[in-house]
Amino acid sequence: MPCLFCEIVAGRRPARMVFDDDQLVAFHDINPQAPTHVLLVPRKHITSLLDLAPEDDALAGSLVRKARDIARDMGLDERGFRLVMNCGDDAGYSVYHIHLHLLGGRRLEWPPG
Ligand code: 5GP
Ligand code: ZN
Repeated sequence: MPCLFCEIVAGRRPARMVFDDDQLVAFHDINPQAPTHVLLVPRKHITSLLDLAPEDDALAGSLVRKARDIARDMGLDERGFRLVMNCGDDAGYSVYHIHLHLLGGRRLEWPPG
């Protein structure tokens, strides 16, 4: 079974794209948990946060900064937004290709459920 997000990165599985460049893709989550729910996914397959290496530092920074840019483009900078990276069972990690969730457009609870 090929990696779901590698399939989206390669364009073999459809997704509602928001942004893409040579490093990462961003698309709407298929099961949105907020009015805005975008996933930012590196083109490179990294299985989870546990596999993030020093050579991925620039990539991780790009993910965060691009998520911020998208949040601003979607008008979320005034009201606020949340970036989330899950890891492992307790966090409900379900697609084993690292991704950053951008959530916004409603009041978000803290602590999360
Ligand atoms: P995780 O729980 O692993 O942090 O997040 C995985 C996310 O991927 C979930 O929010 C889920 O709704 C989303 N997702 C799973 N499969 C697909 C898909 O095929 N397309 C899109 N756009 N999102 C998906
Ligand atoms: Zn993958």
